[in-house]
Amino acid sequence: MNMLESAQEMIRQSSAALGWSDKKRDDFLKPKHSHSFTIEVDGDTMEGFRVQHNDNLGPFKGGIRFHPNVDKDEVTALATLMTVKGAAVDIPMGGGKGGVVFNPRDKDEAYLEKVSREFVRHLKDDIGPDTDVPAPDMNTNGQIIDWMVDEYEQLTGDTSKASFTGKSLEHGGSEGRVQATGRGGMIALREYFEAHQIDPSTQTVAVQGIGNVGFYFAKLAQVELGVKVVAISNSKKMVSNDDGLDFSDKEPSREVIDEIVTDAATESESDDIYAVDCDVLVLAALEDVVSTDNQADIKASIVLELANGPVSFDAHEALVGRGIPVIPDVVANAGGVIVSYLEWKQNKSGEHWEEKRVHDTLDEILSKAMKATAERSKTDDVSLKTAAFLIALERVDAKNG
Ligand code: NAD
Repeated sequence: MNMLESAQEMIRQSSAALGWSDKKRDDFLKPKHSHSFTIEVDGDTMEGFRVQHNDNLGPFKGGIRFHPNVDKDEVTALATLMTVKGAAVDIPMGGGKGGVVFNPRDKDEAYLEKVSREFVRHLKDDIGPDTDVPAPDMNTNGQIIDWMVDEYEQLTGDTSKASFTGKSLEHGGSEGRVQATGRGGMIALREYFEAHQIDPSTQTVAVQGIGNVGFYFAKLAQVELGVKVVAISNSKKMVSNDDGLDFSDKEPSREVIDEIVTDAATESESDDIYAVDCDVLVLAALEDVVSTDNQADIKASIVLELANGPVSFDAHEALVGRGIPVIPDVVANAGGVIVSYLEWKQNKSGEHWEEKRVHDTLDEILSKAMKATAERSKTDDVSLKTAAFLIALERVDAKNG
């Protein structure tokens, strides 16, 4: 089962547990609006989409992907997951997702700017601060969003900057966004430890994927939480050291995995990360990495999902059956969307918060969501993932009609 099938299975099971009829579940799965259009740039034509899944809790919210393989079904499923994520952490935002089907790696800046501006020309009447607030996602970034905001301002006269999030700091972006997802993961793990009276200083952690999310998670988990990070991996290799790898003076870069290699550290195959003898395995690389084929390799006692859908539905059942809790993506990696919501909030009120206020507010929202998820898991005797989906579906349903 891939990530999207797994998410749909979770929705099927959770909605059945809540007593929803099949019709009610199918109505929930159906997006409110689904926009498709053709973008023309320099004689090329490409498909564009924006799926607006659900806005019961607030404006649609979700990223825009530039990728040759993105398609409408994938964007629809991801928009649905954004609805679940926002509701699971109780922010007033709905779920959306968008995409343009092309390979941005072949293209220069001028071309990317034209695609970005065209995307907004097609959607200007369907997005906006109180309607739909897109953000960056795969292969899109602050620069692309700045072009989109500029186009939106020229077309509509709205200068609030609240039409998109993930902007550069100079153009209305928020402090703290770059490390938000890693920081959120650290907060989710801290809450898990607190609930189970586990002393973080006794815990060893292995991190798969040392990009934006994995790097900040590893650094903050070491420096602020006090765990020992004993292994990290990227797509090429794993580096490990039982005495701990030191991130305290490191900054994010593609080379960080090489900088961390000290005399005591050993290098091995990337996939060796699953079998590292540690307390917590953090999956911060890609979707669909743990299936029923390899879940048995995992030796850790806790799995933390920081990528979207790294553990398949069946593998999740198997891990939970082995007594290995999985701290679920819809809460654990929600730091990014929470700080996006805080960026939107700052723009709406014309404020710019200092970094500490952003971190503290993220902490407040995410720790509350983790506590509620753990509590529900206990009272209903279900996994943390099922608990998060139950909470999310109930919240969306409570605002129906
Ligand atoms: P990134 O591109 O910065 O980093 C990805 C890392 O994973 C890189 O170190 C890469 O080498 C590594 N990797 C790729 N394949 C691997 C493999 N097979 N084994 C081990 N490592 C491998 O991406 P990111 O922004 O850190 O995002 C990571 C994941 O988290 C993605 O699935 C993304 O969708 C998800 N996510 C990101 C955010 C965010 O705010 N950036 C928010 C929510 C979810």
